[in-house]
Amino acid sequence: MKSARITAPNEPLSISESETPKPQGDQVLVKVGSVGVCHSDLHQIKNEWGGSQYPMVPGHEIVGKVLTVGTNVTKFKVGDLAGVGVMVDSCKTCKTCTQDLEQYCEEGFVGTYNNKERNSDKITMGGYSTKIVVDEYYTFKIAPTLPLAAVAPLLCAGITTYSPLVYAGVKKGMKVAVVGLGGLGHMGVKFAVSFGAEVTVISTSPSKEADAKKLGATHFLVSTDKEAMSKYNSYFDVILDAISANHDYTSYLNLLGIDGKLMVVGLPIESPKVQPFSLVTNRRSVIGSCIGGMKETQEMLDYCAEHNIVSEIEVIPMQKINEAYDRMLKGDVKYRFVIDLASLK
Ligand code: NAP
Ligand code: ZN
Repeated sequence: MKSARITAPNEPLSISESETPKPQGDQVLVKVGSVGVCHSDLHQIKNEWGGSQYPMVPGHEIVGKVLTVGTNVTKFKVGDLAGVGVMVDSCKTCKTCTQDLEQYCEEGFVGTYNNKERNSDKITMGGYSTKIVVDEYYTFKIAPTLPLAAVAPLLCAGITTYSPLVYAGVKKGMKVAVVGLGGLGHMGVKFAVSFGAEVTVISTSPSKEADAKKLGATHFLVSTDKEAMSKYNSYFDVILDAISANHDYTSYLNLLGIDGKLMVVGLPIESPKVQPFSLVTNRRSVIGSCIGGMKETQEMLDYCAEHNIVSEIEVIPMQKINEAYDRMLKGDVKYRFVIDLASLK
């Protein structure tokens, strides 16, 4: 099989070949059709979060077809569509795993790439690859009715925004803001709109206003326009923060009304500033959220199939991945790059 890997931080990715693993027991071998490019891939190849392991094959927004199955597999048969997200293992027995919250596994979940496997020193390798072997428990059913490449980003950008909006109880009549109109942010807008909320996009990019409205947003605010921002003081019930770069939480907290929640999913490196007066006013809270559990991710995929929700994508061949990272850093992506694995034939 062929994969795109990086051997040291800030090196470009290059194509390499390796032996295709055989699926054992509960595992399925998936022929990857498409893989989304998440900003977390960029954080990790640059070792911005620390602890990155090289060589690394990134990629955790994976869709494809089952090629072969292990002897114990019951959920999939050869030829089925399958999806793999951010997680490929967890203990399955702790308090959180048994509540379908494997992403908060007490032993830590095993990431699809750049993580040590449970009970072995092997490092997991992700979906920038023509094939991947995954335990069927961590593999999702994909509806054949949606365009497959545009489904790939649902496996991370989709669930990471769906889960906190559900947790915050977003529904008709609520006012929701999404901060940072990128891969995650644009999915957040789609979900909040489909849940019936009035949605506002808060962005650093004035040029994104028309897209925000097309996605269903009612209002659009440029975060650097202090006057426009102040008109929305204490206005929102929920703000979803999907910003990839270092930033201050205070200016967003001030926009929350009574019991307002700042749902944080963006993972920049530096600790943000939080002004306590902005928290005690209106009894506001800051709540973090990590992807979603297996059950909720399947629910999200089924919800998307039912409501015809997919990601806005630009399909690229693997050979363009390094260029895609540069463009992502400049905010030049509408709104998710998806790599077509046929380019690695
Ligand atoms: P992305 O597509 O690059 O989008 C990030 C957006 O952040 C940009 O489109 C931009 O939106 C905004 N932004 C960029 N620089 C900014 C700055 N200096 N100040 C303010 N806003 C800025 O990234 P993504 O793939 O959506 O990922 C977003 C973040 O979520 C990343 O940190 C990623 O690691 C994290 N993440 C977290 C989880 C989780 O489980 N919690 C899962 C996946 C990803 P505007 O142009 O609209 O300002
Ligand atoms: Zn991701």
